[in-house]
Amino acid sequence: NTVLDIAAIRNGFPILNRKIKGHPLVYLDNAATSQKPQVVIDALVHYYTQLNANVHRGIHTLAEEATAAFEATRDALQQFINAKYREEIIYTRGTTEGINLVAYTWGRSNLNEGDEVIISGMEHHSNIVPWQIVCEEKKAVLKVIPVTESGELEMETFYQLLSGRTKIVSVVQVSNALGTINPVKEIIDAAHQKGAVVLVDGAQSSLHLDIDVQALDCDFFALSAHKMLGPTGAGALYGKKQLLEAMPVFNGGGEMIKEVTFERTTYNELPYKFEAGTPNIADFVAFKPAIEYINTLGKKNMRVHEDALLRYATDKIKEIDGIRIIGEAKEKASVLSFVIDRVHPQDIGILLDNKGIAVRTGHHCAEPLMNRFCIPGTIRASFAVYNTMEEIDQLAEGLKKAIGLLR
Ligand code: PMP
Repeated sequence: NTVLDIAAIRNGFPILNRKIKGHPLVYLDNAATSQKPQVVIDALVHYYTQLNANVHRGIHTLAEEATAAFEATRDALQQFINAKYREEIIYTRGTTEGINLVAYTWGRSNLNEGDEVIISGMEHHSNIVPWQIVCEEKKAVLKVIPVTESGELEMETFYQLLSGRTKIVSVVQVSNALGTINPVKEIIDAAHQKGAVVLVDGAQSSLHLDIDVQALDCDFFALSAHKMLGPTGAGALYGKKQLLEAMPVFNGGGEMIKEVTFERTTYNELPYKFEAGTPNIADFVAFKPAIEYINTLGKKNMRVHEDALLRYATDKIKEIDGIRIIGEAKEKASVLSFVIDRVHPQDIGILLDNKGIAVRTGHHCAEPLMNRFCIPGTIRASFAVYNTMEEIDQLAEGLKKAIGLLR
Protein backbone atom coordinates (compact mmCIF):
# COMPACT_ATOMS: atom_id res chain seq x y z
CA ASN A 1 0.00 0.00 0.00
CA THR A 2 1.16 3.48 -0.83
CA VAL A 3 1.85 6.11 1.81
CA LEU A 4 0.34 8.70 -0.55
CA ASP A 5 -3.10 10.21 0.03
CA ILE A 6 -4.54 9.63 -3.43
CA ALA A 7 -7.78 11.52 -2.69
CA ALA A 8 -5.78 14.59 -1.68
CA ILE A 9 -3.60 14.26 -4.77
CA ARG A 10 -6.70 14.09 -6.98
CA ASN A 11 -7.94 17.34 -5.47
CA GLY A 12 -4.81 19.01 -6.84
CA PHE A 13 -5.70 18.09 -10.45
CA PRO A 14 -8.69 20.27 -11.41
CA ILE A 15 -9.41 18.45 -14.68
CA LEU A 16 -10.25 15.30 -12.73
CA ASN A 17 -13.48 17.04 -11.64
CA ARG A 18 -14.67 17.21 -15.22
CA LYS A 19 -17.70 15.33 -16.42
CA ILE A 20 -17.55 13.66 -19.83
CA LYS A 21 -20.92 12.86 -21.38
CA GLY A 22 -22.48 13.03 -17.94
CA HIS A 23 -19.92 10.76 -16.28
CA PRO A 24 -16.96 11.66 -14.08
CA LEU A 25 -13.77 11.60 -16.15
CA VAL A 26 -11.75 8.39 -15.79
CA TYR A 27 -8.44 9.40 -17.32
CA LEU A 28 -6.41 6.36 -18.35
CA ASP A 29 -4.42 7.91 -21.18
CA ASN A 30 -1.45 9.05 -19.16
CA ALA A 31 1.15 7.59 -21.52
CA ALA A 32 -0.12 10.01 -24.18
CA THR A 33 0.05 12.95 -21.82
CA SER A 34 -0.32 13.36 -18.09
CA GLN A 35 -2.73 15.77 -16.44
CA LYS A 36 -1.40 18.89 -14.74
CA PRO A 37 -1.61 19.75 -11.05
CA GLN A 38 -2.90 23.17 -9.98
CA VAL A 39 0.66 24.27 -9.08
CA VAL A 40 1.66 23.95 -12.74
CA ILE A 41 -1.43 25.78 -13.97
CA ASP A 42 -0.82 28.51 -11.38
CA ALA A 43 2.77 28.88 -12.56
CA LEU A 44 1.59 29.41 -16.14
CA VAL A 45 -0.93 32.05 -15.06
CA HIS A 46 1.64 33.70 -12.78
CA TYR A 47 4.17 33.84 -15.59
CA TYR A 48 1.79 35.54 -18.00
CA THR A 49 0.32 37.88 -15.40
CA GLN A 50 3.57 38.84 -13.60
CA LEU A 51 6.73 37.85 -15.45
CA ASN A 52 6.22 37.83 -19.20
CA ALA A 53 9.32 39.09 -21.04
CA ASN A 54 11.83 37.64 -23.46
CA VAL A 55 14.71 35.85 -21.79
CA HIS A 56 18.48 36.38 -21.72
CA ARG A 57 18.47 39.64 -23.68
CA GLY A 58 16.85 42.31 -21.59
CA ILE A 59 18.32 44.36 -18.80
CA HIS A 60 14.96 45.41 -17.42
CA THR A 61 13.45 43.83 -14.31
CA LEU A 62 10.87 41.71 -16.09
CA ALA A 63 13.45 40.24 -18.44
CA GLU A 64 15.71 39.43 -15.51
CA GLU A 65 12.92 37.80 -13.54
CA ALA A 66 11.68 35.82 -16.53
CA THR A 67 15.24 34.65 -17.26
CA ALA A 68 15.81 33.59 -13.65
CA ALA A 69 12.56 31.59 -13.59
CA PHE A 70 13.32 30.07 -16.99
CA GLU A 71 16.86 29.06 -16.01
CA ALA A 72 15.82 27.73 -12.60
CA THR A 73 14.11 24.83 -14.36
CA ARG A 74 17.46 23.82 -15.85
CA ASP A 75 18.89 23.43 -12.34
CA ALA A 76 15.83 21.44 -11.27
CA LEU A 77 16.25 19.17 -14.30
CA GLN A 78 19.97 18.75 -13.68
CA GLN A 79 19.15 17.47 -10.20
CA PHE A 80 16.18 15.43 -11.39
CA ILE A 81 18.30 13.28 -13.73
CA ASN A 82 21.58 13.82 -11.83
CA ALA A 83 23.52 15.40 -14.69
CA LYS A 84 27.03 16.50 -13.79
CA TYR A 85 26.78 19.97 -15.36
CA ARG A 86 23.80 22.26 -15.82
CA GLU A 87 24.89 23.08 -19.38
CA GLU A 88 24.35 19.42 -20.26
CA ILE A 89 20.61 20.14 -20.14
CA ILE A 90 19.44 21.37 -23.56
CA TYR A 91 15.91 22.72 -23.72
CA THR A 92 13.82 21.19 -26.49
CA ARG A 93 10.15 21.03 -27.43
CA GLY A 94 10.12 17.44 -26.22
CA THR A 95 11.53 13.99 -26.77
CA THR A 96 10.92 14.11 -30.51
CA GLU A 97 12.99 17.23 -30.93
CA GLY A 98 15.71 15.86 -28.66
CA ILE A 99 16.13 12.73 -30.77
CA ASN A 100 16.03 14.73 -34.00
CA LEU A 101 18.69 17.05 -32.62
CA VAL A 102 21.03 14.12 -31.95
CA ALA A 103 20.30 12.47 -35.31
CA TYR A 104 20.94 15.63 -37.32
CA THR A 105 23.94 16.97 -35.44
CA TRP A 106 25.75 14.00 -33.89
CA GLY A 107 24.45 11.64 -36.58
CA ARG A 108 25.38 13.75 -39.58
CA SER A 109 28.88 14.38 -38.28
CA ASN A 110 29.64 10.87 -36.99
CA LEU A 111 27.91 8.43 -39.33
CA ASN A 112 29.60 7.31 -42.52
CA GLU A 113 28.88 4.79 -45.24
CA GLY A 114 28.53 1.29 -43.79
CA ASP A 115 28.26 2.46 -40.17
CA GLU A 116 25.43 0.97 -38.16
CA VAL A 117 22.71 2.42 -35.97
CA ILE A 118 20.84 0.08 -33.64
CA ILE A 119 17.31 0.79 -32.46
CA SER A 120 14.72 -1.64 -31.14
CA GLY A 121 11.52 -3.14 -32.45
CA MET A 122 9.47 -1.33 -29.82
CA GLU A 123 10.51 2.24 -30.64
CA HIS A 124 8.12 5.13 -30.98
CA HIS A 125 8.15 6.60 -34.50
CA SER A 126 10.15 9.50 -33.11
CA ASN A 127 13.04 7.12 -32.44
CA ILE A 128 12.78 5.45 -35.84
CA VAL A 129 12.19 8.09 -38.49
CA PRO A 130 15.06 10.51 -37.65
CA TRP A 131 17.50 7.56 -37.84
CA GLN A 132 16.04 6.41 -41.15
CA ILE A 133 16.55 9.92 -42.52
CA VAL A 134 20.21 10.21 -41.48
CA CYS A 135 21.00 6.60 -42.37
CA GLU A 136 19.66 7.15 -45.87
CA GLU A 137 21.64 10.37 -46.23
CA LYS A 138 24.86 8.85 -44.89
CA LYS A 139 24.41 5.37 -46.39
CA ALA A 140 24.53 3.97 -42.88
CA VAL A 141 22.59 0.85 -41.92
CA LEU A 142 19.72 0.71 -39.46
CA LYS A 143 19.56 -2.47 -37.37
CA VAL A 144 16.67 -3.45 -35.15
CA ILE A 145 16.68 -5.47 -31.91
CA PRO A 146 13.72 -7.87 -32.22
CA VAL A 147 10.95 -8.06 -29.63
CA THR A 148 9.94 -11.36 -28.01
CA GLU A 149 6.39 -12.68 -27.73
CA SER A 150 6.22 -11.37 -24.16
CA GLY A 151 7.21 -7.89 -25.33
CA GLU A 152 10.85 -7.84 -24.22
CA LEU A 153 14.01 -7.14 -26.18
CA GLU A 154 15.80 -10.17 -27.61
CA MET A 155 19.04 -9.44 -25.85
CA GLU A 156 21.02 -12.30 -27.45
CA THR A 157 20.26 -10.81 -30.84
CA PHE A 158 21.28 -7.38 -29.58
CA TYR A 159 24.70 -8.78 -28.68
CA GLN A 160 24.95 -10.33 -32.15
CA LEU A 161 24.02 -7.06 -33.84
CA LEU A 162 26.50 -5.05 -31.82
CA SER A 163 29.89 -4.74 -33.50
CA GLY A 164 32.73 -2.38 -34.24
CA ARG A 165 30.52 -0.90 -36.99
CA THR A 166 27.87 0.16 -34.46
CA LYS A 167 28.13 3.91 -33.90
CA ILE A 168 24.99 4.60 -31.86
CA VAL A 169 22.33 2.59 -30.06
CA SER A 170 19.07 4.45 -29.51
CA VAL A 171 16.52 2.70 -27.33
CA VAL A 172 13.43 3.39 -25.31
CA GLN A 173 13.64 2.89 -21.54
CA VAL A 174 9.91 2.26 -21.04
CA SER A 175 7.74 1.30 -24.03
CA ASN A 176 4.71 3.54 -24.47
CA ALA A 177 2.84 0.75 -26.26
CA LEU A 178 3.62 -2.21 -23.97
CA GLY A 179 4.95 -0.75 -20.72
CA THR A 180 8.10 -2.89 -20.90
CA ILE A 181 11.03 -1.59 -18.88
CA ASN A 182 14.15 -2.28 -20.92
CA PRO A 183 17.58 -3.16 -19.46
CA VAL A 184 19.15 0.08 -20.66
CA LYS A 185 22.10 -0.10 -18.28
CA GLU A 186 23.13 -3.44 -19.75
CA ILE A 187 22.69 -2.05 -23.29
CA ILE A 188 24.76 1.03 -22.48
CA ASP A 189 27.64 -0.95 -20.98
CA ALA A 190 27.73 -3.37 -23.90
CA ALA A 191 27.57 -0.57 -26.49
CA HIS A 192 30.37 1.35 -24.79
CA GLN A 193 32.59 -1.72 -24.96
CA LYS A 194 32.26 -1.53 -28.74
CA GLY A 195 32.88 2.21 -28.76
CA ALA A 196 29.27 3.15 -29.59
CA VAL A 197 27.29 5.89 -27.87
CA VAL A 198 23.78 5.39 -26.50
CA LEU A 199 20.68 7.56 -26.55
CA VAL A 200 17.92 6.68 -24.11
CA ASP A 201 14.36 7.69 -24.98
CA GLY A 202 13.06 8.66 -21.55
CA ALA A 203 9.65 9.95 -22.63
CA GLN A 204 7.80 7.31 -20.62
CA SER A 205 10.36 6.52 -17.95
CA SER A 206 11.00 10.00 -16.55
CA LEU A 207 7.81 10.09 -14.49
CA HIS A 208 7.92 6.51 -13.29
CA LEU A 209 11.57 5.51 -12.74
CA ASP A 210 14.43 7.15 -10.90
CA ILE A 211 16.74 8.58 -13.53
CA ASP A 212 20.45 8.97 -12.87
CA VAL A 213 22.26 9.68 -16.13
CA GLN A 214 25.67 9.42 -14.48
CA ALA A 215 24.94 6.01 -13.00
CA LEU A 216 23.42 4.86 -16.30
CA ASP A 217 26.37 6.41 -18.12
CA CYS A 218 24.11 7.09 -21.14
CA ASP A 219 25.43 9.60 -23.65
CA PHE A 220 22.08 11.19 -24.43
CA PHE A 221 18.73 11.13 -22.65
CA ALA A 222 15.55 12.72 -24.02
CA LEU A 223 12.38 13.58 -22.08
CA SER A 224 9.10 15.54 -22.45
CA ALA A 225 7.60 17.78 -19.75
CA HIS A 226 4.03 16.97 -20.73
CA LYS A 227 4.45 13.30 -19.79
CA MET A 228 5.71 14.39 -16.35
CA LEU A 229 2.78 16.47 -15.08
CA GLY A 230 4.25 19.53 -16.80
CA PRO A 231 3.22 21.65 -19.78
CA THR A 232 3.31 20.73 -23.46
CA GLY A 233 5.95 22.24 -25.71
CA ALA A 234 8.83 21.81 -23.28
CA GLY A 235 11.37 19.04 -22.86
CA ALA A 236 15.02 18.38 -22.43
CA LEU A 237 17.89 16.61 -24.06
CA TYR A 238 20.71 15.57 -21.78
CA GLY A 239 24.05 15.00 -23.45
CA LYS A 240 27.51 14.43 -22.08
CA LYS A 241 29.31 17.75 -22.19
CA GLN A 242 32.21 16.55 -24.32
CA LEU A 243 29.86 15.14 -26.94
CA LEU A 244 27.66 18.24 -27.00
CA GLU A 245 30.68 20.49 -27.33
CA ALA A 246 31.98 18.54 -30.31
CA MET A 247 28.61 18.43 -32.07
CA PRO A 248 27.72 20.88 -34.83
CA VAL A 249 24.85 23.28 -34.19
CA PHE A 250 21.21 22.40 -34.84
CA ASN A 251 18.89 25.32 -35.65
CA GLY A 252 20.47 28.64 -36.57
CA GLY A 253 19.13 31.96 -35.32
CA GLY A 254 19.13 34.25 -32.34
CA GLU A 255 20.56 33.13 -29.00
CA MET A 256 22.70 30.34 -30.41
CA ILE A 257 25.37 32.74 -31.71
CA LYS A 258 28.31 34.58 -30.24
CA GLU A 259 29.08 36.89 -33.16
CA VAL A 260 27.52 37.20 -36.58
CA THR A 261 28.99 38.79 -39.67
CA PHE A 262 28.09 37.96 -43.24
CA GLU A 263 31.45 36.28 -43.61
CA ARG A 264 31.39 34.14 -40.50
CA THR A 265 29.36 33.32 -37.43
CA THR A 266 30.68 32.00 -34.16
CA TYR A 267 28.46 30.04 -31.84
CA ASN A 268 27.35 30.47 -28.28
CA GLU A 269 28.48 28.10 -25.55
CA LEU A 270 26.45 25.24 -24.09
CA PRO A 271 23.55 24.95 -23.64
CA TYR A 272 22.59 28.00 -25.71
CA LYS A 273 24.42 26.75 -28.78
CA PHE A 274 21.46 24.39 -29.31
CA GLU A 275 18.68 26.79 -28.29
CA ALA A 276 17.96 29.05 -31.26
CA GLY A 277 15.08 31.50 -31.09
CA THR A 278 12.62 32.45 -28.37
CA PRO A 279 11.76 29.33 -26.40
CA ASN A 280 8.46 28.31 -24.79
CA ILE A 281 9.36 30.41 -21.78
CA ALA A 282 6.13 30.00 -19.83
CA ASP A 283 6.15 26.24 -20.31
CA PHE A 284 9.70 25.89 -19.04
CA VAL A 285 8.90 28.12 -16.06
CA ALA A 286 5.89 25.93 -15.25
CA PHE A 287 7.89 22.74 -15.73
CA LYS A 288 9.75 23.42 -12.47
CA PRO A 289 6.72 23.07 -10.17
CA ALA A 290 5.91 19.79 -11.96
CA ILE A 291 9.39 18.48 -11.14
CA GLU A 292 9.06 19.69 -7.55
CA TYR A 293 5.66 18.06 -7.31
CA ILE A 294 7.09 14.72 -8.42
CA ASN A 295 10.00 15.12 -5.98
CA THR A 296 7.63 15.91 -3.12
CA LEU A 297 5.46 12.86 -3.73
CA GLY A 298 8.56 10.76 -4.35
CA LYS A 299 8.88 8.54 -7.39
CA LYS A 300 9.24 5.44 -5.22
CA ASN A 301 5.94 6.19 -3.49
CA MET A 302 4.25 6.89 -6.79
CA ARG A 303 5.62 3.67 -8.23
CA VAL A 304 4.16 1.59 -5.39
CA HIS A 305 0.71 2.92 -6.22
CA GLU A 306 1.17 2.70 -10.01
CA ASP A 307 2.39 -0.90 -9.72
CA ALA A 308 -0.61 -1.79 -7.58
CA LEU A 309 -2.89 -0.23 -10.22
CA LEU A 310 -1.14 -2.15 -13.00
CA ARG A 311 -1.37 -5.47 -11.15
CA TYR A 312 -5.01 -4.94 -10.26
CA ALA A 313 -5.90 -3.89 -13.80
CA THR A 314 -3.99 -6.83 -15.29
CA ASP A 315 -5.88 -9.30 -13.09
CA LYS A 316 -9.26 -7.66 -13.79
CA ILE A 317 -8.72 -7.56 -17.54
CA LYS A 318 -7.57 -11.18 -17.66
CA GLU A 319 -10.91 -12.23 -16.18
CA ILE A 320 -12.74 -10.88 -19.21
CA ASP A 321 -13.46 -13.43 -21.89
CA GLY A 322 -11.62 -12.98 -25.17
CA ILE A 323 -9.11 -10.38 -24.01
CA ARG A 324 -5.42 -10.87 -24.75
CA ILE A 325 -2.79 -8.71 -23.14
CA ILE A 326 -0.03 -7.57 -25.48
CA GLY A 327 3.23 -7.21 -23.61
CA GLU A 328 3.68 -9.31 -20.49
CA ALA A 329 7.24 -8.42 -19.67
CA LYS A 330 8.53 -9.21 -16.20
CA GLU A 331 9.30 -5.53 -15.64
CA LYS A 332 6.57 -3.09 -16.64
CA ALA A 333 5.57 0.44 -15.79
CA SER A 334 2.04 1.81 -15.83
CA VAL A 335 0.87 0.59 -19.23
CA LEU A 336 -1.66 -2.15 -20.02
CA SER A 337 -2.18 -2.90 -23.70
CA PHE A 338 -4.66 -5.47 -24.93
CA VAL A 339 -6.75 -6.69 -27.84
CA ILE A 340 -10.17 -8.30 -27.85
CA ASP A 341 -11.27 -11.14 -30.15
CA ARG A 342 -13.53 -10.04 -32.98
CA VAL A 343 -13.71 -6.45 -31.76
CA HIS A 344 -11.92 -3.42 -33.22
CA PRO A 345 -9.99 -1.36 -30.64
CA GLN A 346 -11.48 1.89 -31.93
CA ASP A 347 -15.06 0.73 -31.33
CA ILE A 348 -14.14 -0.06 -27.74
CA GLY A 349 -12.53 3.35 -27.35
CA ILE A 350 -15.70 5.11 -28.51
CA LEU A 351 -17.98 3.09 -26.22
CA LEU A 352 -15.68 3.66 -23.23
CA ASP A 353 -15.65 7.39 -23.97
CA ASN A 354 -19.44 7.37 -23.76
CA LYS A 355 -18.91 6.36 -20.11
CA GLY A 356 -16.29 9.06 -19.53
CA ILE A 357 -13.39 6.61 -19.70
CA ALA A 358 -10.41 7.87 -21.69
CA VAL A 359 -8.11 5.20 -23.12
CA ARG A 360 -5.94 5.20 -26.20
CA THR A 361 -6.62 2.92 -29.14
CA GLY A 362 -4.52 2.38 -32.23
CA HIS A 363 -0.87 1.83 -33.04
CA HIS A 364 0.51 4.26 -30.41
CA CYS A 365 3.04 5.65 -32.89
CA ALA A 366 4.70 2.24 -32.92
CA GLU A 367 3.45 0.68 -36.16
CA PRO A 368 6.39 -1.73 -36.59
CA LEU A 369 5.68 -3.09 -33.11
CA MET A 370 2.02 -3.65 -33.98
CA ASN A 371 3.14 -5.45 -37.16
CA ARG A 372 5.39 -7.63 -35.00
CA PHE A 373 2.29 -8.82 -33.13
CA CYS A 374 0.22 -8.96 -36.35
CA ILE A 375 -2.38 -6.57 -34.94
CA PRO A 376 -3.60 -3.20 -36.23
CA GLY A 377 -3.42 -1.72 -32.77
CA THR A 378 -4.33 -2.21 -29.14
CA ILE A 379 -6.50 -0.69 -26.47
CA ARG A 380 -4.15 0.93 -23.98
CA ALA A 381 -4.93 1.93 -20.43
CA SER A 382 -2.04 3.81 -18.84
CA PHE A 383 -1.91 4.87 -15.23
CA ALA A 384 -0.65 7.76 -13.16
CA VAL A 385 -0.46 8.45 -9.46
CA TYR A 386 -3.93 10.04 -9.34
CA ASN A 387 -5.73 6.97 -10.70
CA THR A 388 -7.70 4.72 -8.37
CA MET A 389 -8.74 1.09 -8.07
CA GLU A 390 -12.37 2.23 -8.49
CA GLU A 391 -11.48 3.66 -11.87
CA ILE A 392 -10.07 0.29 -12.89
CA ASP A 393 -13.31 -1.36 -11.80
CA GLN A 394 -15.13 1.13 -14.02
CA LEU A 395 -12.81 0.29 -16.91
CA ALA A 396 -13.47 -3.43 -16.47
CA GLU A 397 -17.25 -2.88 -16.26
CA GLY A 398 -17.13 -0.57 -19.28
CA LEU A 399 -15.21 -3.15 -21.26
CA LYS A 400 -17.64 -5.94 -20.44
CA LYS A 401 -20.60 -3.81 -21.50
CA ALA A 402 -18.86 -2.64 -24.67
CA ILE A 403 -17.95 -6.18 -25.67
CA GLY A 404 -21.54 -7.26 -25.03
CA LEU A 405 -22.79 -4.55 -27.37
CA LEU A 406 -20.25 -5.22 -30.10
CA ARG A 407 -20.44 -8.99 -30.29
N1 PMP B 1 9.06 8.19 -27.19
C1 PMP B 1 8.10 7.60 -26.49
C2 PMP B 1 8.36 6.26 -25.87
C3 PMP B 1 6.87 8.23 -26.34
O1 PMP B 1 5.90 7.64 -25.63
C4 PMP B 1 6.65 9.49 -26.92
C5 PMP B 1 5.32 10.19 -26.81
N2 PMP B 1 4.20 9.38 -27.05
C6 PMP B 1 7.70 10.06 -27.64
C7 PMP B 1 8.89 9.39 -27.75
C8 PMP B 1 7.57 11.40 -28.27
O2 PMP B 1 7.40 12.37 -27.31
P1 PMP B 1 6.87 13.82 -27.68
O3 PMP B 1 5.65 13.61 -28.54
O4 PMP B 1 6.55 14.44 -26.37
O5 PMP B 1 7.96 14.50 -28.41
